[in-house]
Amino acid sequence: MTDFVFAPAQAPRLPIIGQARQFPVHRIYCVGRNFAEHAKEMGAEVARGTPVFFMKPADAIVAPGGRIPYPSQTNDLHHEVELVVALGRDADGVVSVEQAPALVFGYGVGIDLTRRDLQAQAKEKRLPWDIAKGFDHSAPASALIPAADVTALPARRLWLEVNGTLRQQAPLSDMVFGVGEILHELSKLFALKAGDLVFMGTPAGVAALQPGDKFRAGVDGLIEFSGQIE
Ligand code: MN
Repeated sequence: MTDFVFAPAQAPRLPIIGQARQFPVHRIYCVGRNFAEHAKEMGAEVARGTPVFFMKPADAIVAPGGRIPYPSQTNDLHHEVELVVALGRDADGVVSVEQAPALVFGYGVGIDLTRRDLQAQAKEKRLPWDIAKGFDHSAPASALIPAADVTALPARRLWLEVNGTLRQQAPLSDMVFGVGEILHELSKLFALKAGDLVFMGTPAGVAALQPGDKFRAGVDGLIEFSGQIE
């Protein structure tokens, strides 16, 4: 047995609907500007081109019921509700759009929490987004629903309410790049592994969260979860 100098951290994990076993998180990839109306509200060009990717650390994941403290060093914490794709198999190099669905274990809903003020400063100075996007507790997510239990995904509505008021909603068919295209593009850049999560980008309506705010988010007929900012 390997002797570590201290005990390694436990794998970040998400529950799975209908199963006692949990999903161990390997990496968290995120897609930027994947809904045209959100790209517009952020003042970005709406062009298909190549998808924008960034990452969060795996331990930024917050399973349902976990603590979501209001982060330090921001006065403008934003919610971005997103479809989460969970991979259950390693990719063998670059995967085609057609091969991509075979990698998918299941789906969830997540919130790509963003220090919007720090992201705006980073964009202005052409600096990296890490401190705006990859902070502790920045990726609350639902339990995962196995892909075998999911039908008609593109037609379903992704939504987020804050304190009972609807803030974001769009059909998943509004995504500029679909799941297959995103996994194809990601697999050109990274070795995709079982345990990877992909946050697929957010629709329009991103806005600020305050301490004490309660949110509910879901994909109609599939998944729902809730949480509160401390
Ligand atoms: Mn996002």
